[in-house]
Amino acid sequence: MYKRFELHNHTIESDGSLSVKELIDYMVENEVDVFALTDHNTISGHHKVKEILEKEKPPIECIFGMEYTTYYGHILCFNLNEYIPWENIDKERAELLFRSIKKTGALAGIAHPFSYGAPVAQGCRWEMKLNDYSVFDFIEIINNPESLEANAQALMWWQSLCLKGMRISMTAGMDLHRKNGFENRFAVYIKTRPDLSAQNALARAIKTQKTYVTRGPVFEALLQKNAAVKCRIENTVKKGFDMQAVPFWTIEYTSPSGSLLRKLDKSDKTALFSLSEFKDSSVIVVKLYAGDVCMENLTAVAPVIYR
Ligand SMILES: [Zn+2]
Ligand SMILES: [Zn+2]
Repeated sequence: MYKRFELHNHTIESDGSLSVKELIDYMVENEVDVFALTDHNTISGHHKVKEILEKEKPPIECIFGMEYTTYYGHILCFNLNEYIPWENIDKERAELLFRSIKKTGALAGIAHPFSYGAPVAQGCRWEMKLNDYSVFDFIEIINNPESLEANAQALMWWQSLCLKGMRISMTAGMDLHRKNGFENRFAVYIKTRPDLSAQNALARAIKTQKTYVTRGPVFEALLQKNAAVKCRIENTVKKGFDMQAVPFWTIEYTSPSGSLLRKLDKSDKTALFSLSEFKDSSVIVVKLYAGDVCMENLTAVAPVIYR
């Protein structure tokens, strides 16, 4: 079973307009399975969420997080149990903050790395120096309110690091500050079991690069025994996406030696691709487009295949 995770949300505990209770209700109304609370530089909402979940038992789980909001970029954290101060952050050595976050067992990644930054959005762009890419877990490849261009750059940065062999997960988020609709917005899906907590499912998925990002159907790419990749458009489709309006699908396979495209009839659900077409097939990134290949048509990204 796949669960939908909405991993980037703010409330009035920082600069959002919804109370914690209103955020929970809004998420439940929109059939979200798991939401993260990621207010800027505060975990003051955590105990409020816990109280509501215990008392009212709404059909939803919470990932307790925070968005470290510095002058040189924003860091999203999940499964955060304590506040870690960042006042002494060193722009030249982002590793220090990532390491202190991760020491507590939390997951940490870079939010909206190519946000416009100053003077439009002071501090939102990632400008810290990183010498060790193993210190962070994920990149938010799609921040829904960001421009197509900023998201395209984030996607390409993540892809280029993966193609170099780095094990970095991808996430997407609403960066929700008010009620503004989930239709056609990218979310994260995770394959999980009913007995696994959302926190464990997320940690496992992020540690093994098994997050699915989509605004429509969940898209899976699996390595077969005969050096082929089998892609499958799953029946789990995010609500609000019009499958009928898809003219045709294009699958883009990218390896360190280049990209190849395959068109798929809109009624087709699976595709087989031989890796012998690539000189170097050590890493494969597979993306699904509703129509031709362009950022506007990007629909889903499958978990990366590392051979
Ligand atoms: Zn931010
Ligand atoms: Zn945010």
